[in-house]
Amino acid sequence: MKIGIMGGTFDPIHIGHLLLGEFAYEDFGLDEIWFLPNGNPPHKETADTGASLDHRIKMIKRAIQGVSYFRLNLHEANASEHSYTYQTMREFNQMFPEHEFYFILGADSLFSIEQWKYFREIFPTCTILAAMRDDKDALEMQDQILYLTEKYGARIRLLQAPLLEISSTVIRERASRNLGVRYMVPDSVAEYIKMNHLYKNERS
Ligand code: ATP
Ligand code: MG
Repeated sequence: MKIGIMGGTFDPIHIGHLLLGEFAYEDFGLDEIWFLPNGNPPHKETADTGASLDHRIKMIKRAIQGVSYFRLNLHEANASEHSYTYQTMREFNQMFPEHEFYFILGADSLFSIEQWKYFREIFPTCTILAAMRDDKDALEMQDQILYLTEKYGARIRLLQAPLLEISSTVIRERASRNLGVRYMVPDSVAEYIKMNHLYKNERS
């Protein structure tokens, strides 16, 4: 099967993530999309006021409920140590030699990937599907794709999805100020955030 991997902190999951998953599924003929929340992100300082892993997982479950090809994968969440993408992807290839993996990411990740631990080892394990994000235009994306392809032999395809200027950061900030987050996250996630008073202590 062709498996799309959508990795992230998902603090919280929002429609930008879901839209990327949906477009990757449709446009690249994938069979499943695995949402892969990280347990304790090494390259990212999670604000101590961010939601716990348990909350992040529950929000993903709500967001993908009812979509048969969207799956939650707890490989990194259950790991006792920091998970690095190169490791996870290597392990996925070993565990599922019958699958072909597509790693889905946004422009910010494509531009920072050289800072990821042992990033060179990621490229042989998957095809990268890279989506544009507000801060980079199409030309910059194409340049970066070409650069990574030529320098590291990476396989990267442009994932064309509608641009959504939505981030978990914006959602956390709005929730912290008691503002609604409806339409940026599925209703079931907005309800969950409200019900559990998430993101209330974030400095803004
Ligand atoms: P934060 O603001 O906390 O960094 P985020 O919205 O960037 O959250 P992450 O969990 O960090 O979400 O992102 C997971 C992946 O999804 C990354 O590869 C990121 O580039 C991508 N992504 C998130 N939001 C969007 C968006 N609106 N458009 C395109 N890609 C996105
Ligand atoms: Mg991010």
